[in-house]
Amino acid sequence: MKRAYNFSPGPAMLPGPVIERLREEAGDWHGTGMAAMEMGHRSAEFSSIAEKAETDLRDLLSIPDSYKVLFMQGGATAQFAAVPMNLCAPDETADYLVTGYWSRMAVKEGARFCHANIVLDTADNGDTSIPEADRWHLSDQAAFFHYVDNETIGGLRLPTVPVTEAPLVVDMSSSILTEPIKVEDYGVIYAGAQKNIGPAGLTIVIVSDELLDRKGNDKKGAIPSVLDYRRMANAGSMLNTPPTFSWYAAGLVFEWLKAQGGVEKMAARNRAKADRLYRAIDDSDFYANPVATKYRSMVNIPFMLADENLDALFLEQAAERGLTSLKGHRSVGGMRASIYNSMPDEGVDALVEFMGEFECTNG
Ligand code: PMP
Repeated sequence: MKRAYNFSPGPAMLPGPVIERLREEAGDWHGTGMAAMEMGHRSAEFSSIAEKAETDLRDLLSIPDSYKVLFMQGGATAQFAAVPMNLCAPDETADYLVTGYWSRMAVKEGARFCHANIVLDTADNGDTSIPEADRWHLSDQAAFFHYVDNETIGGLRLPTVPVTEAPLVVDMSSSILTEPIKVEDYGVIYAGAQKNIGPAGLTIVIVSDELLDRKGNDKKGAIPSVLDYRRMANAGSMLNTPPTFSWYAAGLVFEWLKAQGGVEKMAARNRAKADRLYRAIDDSDFYANPVATKYRSMVNIPFMLADENLDALFLEQAAERGLTSLKGHRSVGGMRASIYNSMPDEGVDALVEFMGEFECTNG
């Protein structure tokens, strides 16, 4: 099977062995004569798939029993609304740290459901660094503090967990499972699946029981049932038909991660891959990444060519070598290499080698 080194930010590359399992089990899951995606979501077979996926995810991230894991839909974008709907009333204030495109989207949507206070916006420095917490304008009684720990587009990440009175809500869409976290630090962790978890269509929400019991603006009956954390938790994420195929495929990814040695092993590998690519960028006068070293993402690495007129040629020649989806986001330009858990070391090696050759020829 011919597989590209696919640097897409999401939907992103899945591990080769997971693609193989999907092929093997496509028409007949474990001798049932049914594909996983053909099974009723309340069948014994699918229940076993669903439960195993949750157990493996709990193992991988050491999720305490005092947290619920929800398998939801609507992407991280639905969570931009669901978070304030569940956690605060419309006249209450929530704090938002804004460090790039996705936290800007979160605050824009969130402001429709609560008073959104921007504690800091890194637009002032072109999203290249994050001023320390003593410069943040926190509210006195915020219902929660929202941030995006890894900005997928700008390639900027917050290197430490913020310390705030308000419960932390974090969008980990592009960083979940790429390094160990302490779940207890957070009130809510959410992530769209299509980068490190599995196919699009599934959103993982990890929410503390304490916050689950908090009344949001549902006292006005305003939360759609499928976005209501309590109702979803009570229904085991099966209030309605869940995205069964994505849930099943996510389970295969979790099994693969466990076989790789878990999240700590992935983190070491991811760190090494990122270091190699940043070194190639920093050691050259032809490529550049504007983000201050301390705040650089480990998994989304944007880089500019010295002459943007060469962008199209770079992309064309990279694709000829099976290095695909390197085009940067339209708001940033240039290139971006997304190197999540599934990107093998060899993929990064091949990219670094190609970058060196392209610079020799065109630099
Ligand atoms: N947050 C982050 C950090 C993202 O990277 C993305 C998607 N790339 C989103 C939110 C939006 O996710 P979705 O398309 O699943 O709504």
